[in-house]
Amino acid sequence: MEILLASNNKNKHKELSKIFQESGSKHTLIVNKDTPDVIEDKNTIEENAKKKAEECYEFFKSPVISDDSGLFVDALDGRPGVHSKRYAGLSSTDVENNQKLISELKTAHNLSAFFKTVLCYFDGLNYLTSEGVLKGNIILDPRGKNGFGYDPIFDVNGKTLAEMTLEEKSNISHRKIAAVKLVEMLNEHKV
Ligand code: IMP
Repeated sequence: MEILLASNNKNKHKELSKIFQESGSKHTLIVNKDTPDVIEDKNTIEENAKKKAEECYEFFKSPVISDDSGLFVDALDGRPGVHSKRYAGLSSTDVENNQKLISELKTAHNLSAFFKTVLCYFDGLNYLTSEGVLKGNIILDPRGKNGFGYDPIFDVNGKTLAEMTLEEKSNISHRKIAAVKLVEMLNEHKV
């Protein structure tokens, strides 16, 4: 059975498709270039993921999986959280977002943080939601050239995500944890 990924992001499609295949899913994730751009204006990543799934389902009338992710920093009461993508402003770059976070954490003692991904499956009737969390620490001197977003300032056991290969990161990532859980749920619910 085919499930539409409610995103035009080719990298996400590649990453999630690989996880679905490796987890023995009977579902194939497909993308459609006409997927509507859903405005992510909710207060939580859970609500945004649900909104994306519902709007894309309404548009295509076929089962969809949506995702939303964010970085949650303990010393900042969970910011940037749902605002991770545009933390330093509407059209902010990854470097600007990282710099803003670093400047806010200059005097912080606790640099613990986590990434969270929420995946939401919706077929017009059933919702299945899974989440994945990756814990680490923010570093104030970015390291590494790989990945995207906050990867250069997110350290897991002495290595930033930007210092890891895609393979290494994908093995531990919040997206991977959420996707493996969702595959299990889809199998259990026989959808
Ligand atoms: P999205 O919902 O997956 O597009 O994530 C929203 C924002 O969270 C991204 O634009 C990034 O700033 C940040 N983010 C999410 N996942 C990651 C990651 O794996 N590494 C670094 N930043 C991430």
